[in-house]
Amino acid sequence: AFKKSLGQNFLIDVNILKNILNVADITKETNAIEVGPGIGALTEQLAIYANKVVAFEIDQRLVPILEDTLSPYDNVNIVNQDILKADIQSLLQQNFYDEKEIKIVANLPYYITTPILMHLLMAKLPISSITVMIQKEVADRMAATENTKEYGSLSIAIQYYTEASVEMIVPKTVFMPQPRVDSAVLHLQMRKKPPVDVMDEDFFFLFVQACFQQRRKTLRNNLSRHFANLDKPMIEKTLQETGIDGTRRAESLTMEEFALLANTFYNQR
Ligand code: SAM
Repeated sequence: AFKKSLGQNFLIDVNILKNILNVADITKETNAIEVGPGIGALTEQLAIYANKVVAFEIDQRLVPILEDTLSPYDNVNIVNQDILKADIQSLLQQNFYDEKEIKIVANLPYYITTPILMHLLMAKLPISSITVMIQKEVADRMAATENTKEYGSLSIAIQYYTEASVEMIVPKTVFMPQPRVDSAVLHLQMRKKPPVDVMDEDFFFLFVQACFQQRRKTLRNNLSRHFANLDKPMIEKTLQETGIDGTRRAESLTMEEFALLANTFYNQR
């Protein structure tokens, strides 16, 4: 019995598993973190090709199945915890005491893809990349560049931390049960430092969200709506000082332009 509520769609095609490992560039020099091992198809490949594996699975019923599937391997640790609540840092210290690089690889539960990825990115883990199977539409939004309809605050949030690329489109038919939508393999290469300097990260992300609130409205319109009338002179001053045209739409702004606007606005508060 699959638990739909936990996003349980299991991969049944070995070629796809191998492709995911290729995209992630998994070798015996890699320690791997997996989120949601399910019945262990990807976990087994990781056990074979990676150094060590720590896999977080929320569903207790799957643990005996996983332990059985993975019994031939001595380099896998199944952790029966919600990835959003687990103390990942200390689990990594307990399991990965060698100096090998750490990568996250997963076929994520689709109903919480964004919360999981943002949680992992904001946890400032010592990882070098994240390779995940997710809903294609979400992968496209995460990797989108300006002047496309997929570009939005999610693209900025993800690309602030990583270099994002969609590496592979995956048909529904390789899953059991089949999901309703197509999937994609998204590769996120962690940046050593963000591509822009911002005064306050929380404010920066809020500001970008405000700019995108109504996609068809101008920057000026979205900002005035979000920051209420009190701030109107500040909005005009910000636009003037940055030289960014208030009649533009958020989807035409680069991350550098968002950072310039947000920092200038922040300094005036
Ligand atoms: N990796 C397996 C595969 O490729 O066949 C299963 C992937 S399935 C799409 C997602 C898995 O994530 C399920 O096994 C589900 O129980 C688990 N899961 C859902 N929410 C979770 C959470 N918050 N923390 C850890 N695992 C979770």
